[in-house]
Amino acid sequence: MTAFDVRILGSGIVSRAAALALARQGLRVALQARPPTAAGAAPDVRAYALNPASVALLTGLRAWDTLPADARTAVHDMQVHGDAPGAQIAFSAWSQRVPALAWIVDAAALETVLEAAVAYSPLVTVMPEPGAAALTVVAEGKASALREQLGVRFERHDYGHAAVAARLVADRPHTGVARQWFRSPDILALLPFDRPEAGRSYGLVWSLPAEQATHWRDAPVAEFEAALNEATGGQAGRLSLGSERASWPLAIARASAVSGPGWALVGDAAHLVHPLAGQGLNLGLADVAALAQVLAAREAWRALGDADLLRRYARRRAAGTWAMSQATDGLWHLFAHDQPLLRELRNRGLGLVNRLAPVKRWLVGRALDA
Ligand SMILES: Cc1cc2nc3c(=O)[nH]c(=O)nc-3n(C[C@H](O)[C@H](O)[C@H](O)COP(=O)(O)OP(=O)(O)OC[C@H]3O[C@@H](n4cnc5c(N)ncnc54)[C@H](O)[C@@H]3O)c2cc1C
Repeated sequence: MTAFDVRILGSGIVSRAAALALARQGLRVALQARPPTAAGAAPDVRAYALNPASVALLTGLRAWDTLPADARTAVHDMQVHGDAPGAQIAFSAWSQRVPALAWIVDAAALETVLEAAVAYSPLVTVMPEPGAAALTVVAEGKASALREQLGVRFERHDYGHAAVAARLVADRPHTGVARQWFRSPDILALLPFDRPEAGRSYGLVWSLPAEQATHWRDAPVAEFEAALNEATGGQAGRLSLGSERASWPLAIARASAVSGPGWALVGDAAHLVHPLAGQGLNLGLADVAALAQVLAAREAWRALGDADLLRRYARRRAAGTWAMSQATDGLWHLFAHDQPLLRELRNRGLGLVNRLAPVKRWLVGRALDA
């Protein structure tokens, strides 16, 4: 008999959430340690938009309420601007009858809180190379090595764009409003946040053609701030840089299979989406919730690594993941090209959707529970 029921490979947010979720069922979990090379790396400057389903999962894992108050900010309103004057769509938590449209969370703080929760869990053992177990959960991220060894293809399309992320400080309060500009070809998002300055900060995610992204990541601060203020037109106030900048290449990808005998893929190891809708981590946490539910509901005689059991997990995630990757990819293509007809159509479309309350409610519903 092996010492562990489950081994989890990968050392990100999804792997830790999976370890905690499975340990809560009484399973003995071996979780891969963060590689020593990661120690001393610069803290992640990203602020993630999390949906209520992710927040519910993290609350159940006792990781949400332990986040410092300034590491999570509720989004009450969202304004999305097209690339023609007046083309915009607005969402509000009030009109959607939900307490918040999303929460913006400090990526580094979430990692720290999960790491502490894992350290307190008597059923989770953190080790560099977890040995064999009945079930292997692969949460190694987009460059997963085990996925390749399992013979799973990762069908990937590079957008040729990269996202520049940073923290910003505005000269006026954010009032819980998230803003996004589809500027063709770039997409700029400001996520209301409380770090570094309570009530006046934003997490920036600016997706641009790769060369421009490199340019703006490395440009002198004054030049960068001028470009940022020009792009946002002062709608969020005057913005200045509040952190280092970092950039990530962007791609869409899907694993050819997410489960097999004795293994399951979760998080970015299973699917990669453009961050324009802030859904990648939400999808990964939804994978964790689904896998935990499937394992908890298994028949007493069924082994944890049973291929039919794990197929239930794959089936449960297939439609939601496919729909989200199609939606983000479709939006990207709609706004990436600067053809006059396409511009006319997309901007009219934004205005139309803005006037159709049921369609808006449906769109928000999809985003709320990825
Ligand atoms: C700019 C940007 C903004 C984003 N914003 C949002 C957002 O607002 N909302 C949202 O939901 N999502 C967002 N995402 C997506 C989100 O970042 C990812 O979906 C999420 O980080 C995936 O988590 P993961 O744990 O699956 O993978 P990862 O974060 O990649 O973690 C896997 C980790 O495992 C490690 N690992 C791999 N192999 C080993 C090994 N052998 N030993 C030890 N460690 C190993 C890797 O180094 C990595 O650190 C954004 C992405 C980008 C690029």
